[in-house]
Amino acid sequence: MIYLFVNPVVLSQEGKIYRMEKCSTNNERKLVERPYKITIDGDYILKATLDPKKMIISLKYLKNPLKFLGAGAYGASHEIEHLNNNTIKGIPFYDFEYVLEN
Ligand SMILES: [Zn+2]
Repeated sequence: MIYLFVNPVVLSQEGKIYRMEKCSTNNERKLVERPYKITIDGDYILKATLDPKKMIISLKYLKNPLKFLGAGAYGASHEIEHLNNNTIKGIPFYDFEYVLEN
C-alpha cells in the first residue's frame, strides 16, 4: 500500500528504535533514531493498493489519522524528515569504530 498525505502532520510518536538507514540520495547508511509508533494526519489522505495480477490500483480516501507501527513507522518518519529538513540526519556508517573480538 502507498499513502498520499497532503500537508501531513505528526500527531504523536512513541518508542525509540535505532536503525541503519540508507537513503537514495546518500551512498552510505546512517544511524538514525525512529519511533516505533507514529500517528499522522493530513488535509487529505489517500490510500493506494496495487494488485499486480489484475494490474489495478485501487484508491480510497481516508478520513481519519493513520497509525503506523514498526517498519511502517520507520518509513513514515523517514519521509516526514525529508519534508521537514530536506535531508536525513544521522551518524554515517564510516564514523563507526571497528573492534576485533577474540
Ligand atoms: Zn530518504
